[in-house]
Amino acid sequence: MAELTSDFCSAYACPMLGVYGVSGKWYCSCHHNANPALNDAITAELHRQKATVDRIVLARREGRCEVQLENGLITLIRDIGEQMPLRKPNVIGPTHAMTHYTEQGS
Ligand SMILES: [Zn+2]
Repeated sequence: MAELTSDFCSAYACPMLGVYGVSGKWYCSCHHNANPALNDAITAELHRQKATVDRIVLARREGRCEVQLENGLITLIRDIGEQMPLRKPNVIGPTHAMTHYTEQGS
């Protein structure tokens, strides 16, 4: 009906298909109900999960729904913005490693 409507999610550069209509725009299951401030972070994660996204999009295009894959992706996305605190200070880093290697071979 609306010729301007794209199949894709309205979030900028999102590779997923829009499946939820919200006031004239369509959003994928990952951007739907997401905090708009996190849209770019979610999109970046979706691009990192390209293989999964491709399968979900293909299924949607064939009128199917990869429920397990899509729910897995949503669970992954849900963690964005809710980073876990470190359980203990992590002091191991590149400046602490490798020192003994310099003594080898001499
Ligand atoms: Zn999206």
